[in-house]
Amino acid sequence: MNFEFLFEQYKVTEISGRYLTLDHIEPLLFQWNTDGQLQTIGLSVENRPIYTFSIGTGKNRILMWSQMHGNESTTTKALMDFLNFLNSDDPIARNLLKDFTFCCLPMVNPDGAKRYTRENAVKVDLNRDANLLTQPESLALRAAFDAFKPNYCYNLHDQRTIFGVGDTGKPATVSFLAPAYNEDCDINEQRMKSINVIAAMNAELQKIIPGQIGRFDDSFNINCIGDTFQSLNIPTILFEAGHFPKDYEREITRKFIFIALLSGFEFLNENVVVSNGLHEYLNIPQNKVNFYDLVYKNVKINYDCNKIITNFAAQYSEVLVEETIQFCAKIIQIDNLENFFGHIEYDAKGAEFESENVNFPEIGHKANFNFSDSVKVVNGMVKN
Ligand SMILES: [Zn+2]
Repeated sequence: MNFEFLFEQYKVTEISGRYLTLDHIEPLLFQWNTDGQLQTIGLSVENRPIYTFSIGTGKNRILMWSQMHGNESTTTKALMDFLNFLNSDDPIARNLLKDFTFCCLPMVNPDGAKRYTRENAVKVDLNRDANLLTQPESLALRAAFDAFKPNYCYNLHDQRTIFGVGDTGKPATVSFLAPAYNEDCDINEQRMKSINVIAAMNAELQKIIPGQIGRFDDSFNINCIGDTFQSLNIPTILFEAGHFPKDYEREITRKFIFIALLSGFEFLNENVVVSNGLHEYLNIPQNKVNFYDLVYKNVKINYDCNKIITNFAAQYSEVLVEETIQFCAKIIQIDNLENFFGHIEYDAKGAEFESENVNFPEIGHKANFNFSDSVKVVNGMVKN
């Protein structure tokens, strides 16, 4: 299967970037809703609809949900691309619909999406509410799970730019986890099923982004949705869409999630017998918090009236301004930054830090400064 070609063909061009709300996806869902595929399974705190879009007639039932964290839109884009593909006349899609039934919740947290927050409208992290079910969004997802009776659950998220693949210096562009079902993180038959799908998706992704796939920490927390569903004996897979160099809009990572979905379904469909899935899964390096967006090296700064050479880092905060996300670089760390990497690194070669008010990179300040009067840095980036 030519995954990249399929992505280019079925990518939904109406949606892009990081800010994705119900207003963006509803027209597409309505357009695809030719025969009652679209249902409202619940309402958010602020009475926005939480939709399921169900399609296919096959025995293998896949429940997928995205944007349970409102500011995590990449997997929603990929899920919409996948739904667009399923709604086409493509013979591969027709075949998938014979073997699978998909129930998709493209936006579990529409209030958080509107605000561009992780939490819902009353500041609850829905991925810590899977057990208590205090929020209407949590109840809606649980209702979909109970009604649909999936064979597999796909828990779709974004992760921040801080994650690297182990100590390799490569960003974790996509991460996976087969969540634990108990405190001991044992592996039972259900968890092994998740692991085998991840191994298959990893094998495909390694061909196009070698070394850029990470494995998420599996410590057990029954309040997390993946751990809850796994503990209810349904194989569950966590997807984390992460950083690809220079792709802050996550339009490239979007493609890798689409490819992961397709390659996983291809694997499930062909009933491949897996002998070493666990080995391959455990071979995926664990994610590590060891990246900053911007790292400046060998900078001369004033420190206690002495001039020293050091490194410092800046990180973007994402700010919603008039329906778009702006990336605002702020100084976050001054350190030798040993064992840390920057998505962009700049070697000041001993040039002196200067800025309007202070001669020291102050944590929390905007990353606007000069190096020795000759190099100007605006919002973290060196201007030529
Ligand atoms: Zn998340």
